[in-house]
Amino acid sequence: MKDLVYLNDIHIVDASGVFILLNKQIGSWCLVSREEKKLVERLSKGPLPLDIVQKEDSTSGEPLPLFRRLLVSGIININDVCFLKDEYIEDESQPFTIVVKTTDRCNLKCGYCYTEYTKISHESFSTEALVGSLRRIREILGPKRKILVVFHGGEPLLFFDEIKRAILSINSSFENVDFSIQTNGTLLTPETVSFLQDNSARLGLSIDGHLFDMNRNRFKSEQTFLKVLDNIDLLSKSKVTFGLLSVVTASNAPFMKESLRWFIDRGVRSFVLNPMISRKGNYSSAFLDLLADSYISVIRFIDDWNSKHTDKAQLINERSCSAMIHTLLLQDHGQCYSIPCGAGYNCLALDTDNTPYLCDLFMGDPAFRITELSSIKTMGEEETIKAFINSTYINRKDECQDCPFDKICLFRCPADSYYIHGDFCHRHSLCELTKRLIPRIMKLLSSKEINPSNFIALQV
Ligand code: SF4
Ligand code: SF4
Repeated sequence: MKDLVYLNDIHIVDASGVFILLNKQIGSWCLVSREEKKLVERLSKGPLPLDIVQKEDSTSGEPLPLFRRLLVSGIININDVCFLKDEYIEDESQPFTIVVKTTDRCNLKCGYCYTEYTKISHESFSTEALVGSLRRIREILGPKRKILVVFHGGEPLLFFDEIKRAILSINSSFENVDFSIQTNGTLLTPETVSFLQDNSARLGLSIDGHLFDMNRNRFKSEQTFLKVLDNIDLLSKSKVTFGLLSVVTASNAPFMKESLRWFIDRGVRSFVLNPMISRKGNYSSAFLDLLADSYISVIRFIDDWNSKHTDKAQLINERSCSAMIHTLLLQDHGQCYSIPCGAGYNCLALDTDNTPYLCDLFMGDPAFRITELSSIKTMGEEETIKAFINSTYINRKDECQDCPFDKICLFRCPADSYYIHGDFCHRHSLCELTKRLIPRIMKLLSSKEINPSNFIALQV
């Protein structure tokens, strides 16, 4: 009997001059030209003998001939056997993250701070309560799972003495726990840096670019901004692992690459560029175009930089771009990029009064309070977590269900729909950015203009 080639269940997306074929079940994809698409159209009418399909092969400038491209990306199968080159790698080194709301107080008032949307209590956290929760979480997770404790705010360094006490106390009672602090950088001192270095605690520092004008949403005075730049120098000269976190807005988007370059020259190697999230979900088309161009230029810049540097210490990383590339290659990239997301399973958040929530974005909302941490054996048993997974994954009914990019969407946090619409049924407010970026990144990957191994999966 002759071998037969079958077409899998696919979406076809016209992406100006090229067509994206996507496997509906898993989101694997490949690009084909208009000419190459004709073979797919013939296969859509029924299976064809293998020798006929192979004969019609073409390369059209793509690195892989058409037949192999369709086969390894799960678009076709032979005799119902799928030859998808399965590159999905579950990264077991991903820690279970506990976000600790250190305090809701802050010495700045950034224009886009989401703390004002949560209803947290007003004291600082307590070391004793945190250690108690950690003990319970350690029992649930078992001794081996790495835990990352992230001190968040408000501004955590307002309560640095309590953070120090917590880190020393946790280190004396637990193994396999890492620490990170997310700060605005204004209160850093040589003593703080030295403590972080001695205790291997990481630090994420928020700054929106290398010029004061780019930071108008953060700093009221240029003096404060310059102090933060000095503190970045202090960190660069230390052995503390740190990264910079920026919110990308219309005013800094065109200069993101220049800012990266400027900070790289000052010794920074790790970045996070988060698009500004509008709580109303409104973005102008011009702003989305600007964001898309900015991310593409950063992707090209990272690829170029990392391909020219072999010394590991020189390699740079930007989390959003890495996440986009890894998502399109169906590789795991942490709790916010998996389906379902890791809220409750791979992370939780503790309010200042130690109340646990699914994720820091839901902190203060009783609907997402984890109630049964004290009595459960696994995270999956907990009712709030089960209900969340049910509505965002198992029984989801949302606007994304028929989208060809559903399995590889770049911005997928369910809290976005919840805060804008009060449910989990709406597409992400950055949907149109995703639709601008996916075809462009696919073209870069497919033509091998960028090398995925230049995009490191690191956490700040
Ligand atoms: S957010 Fe938009 S691009 Fe993403 S899956 Fe939903 S509809 Fe598709
Ligand atoms: S709710 Fe959003 S922020 Fe929280 S884990 Fe899920 S994707 Fe990440």
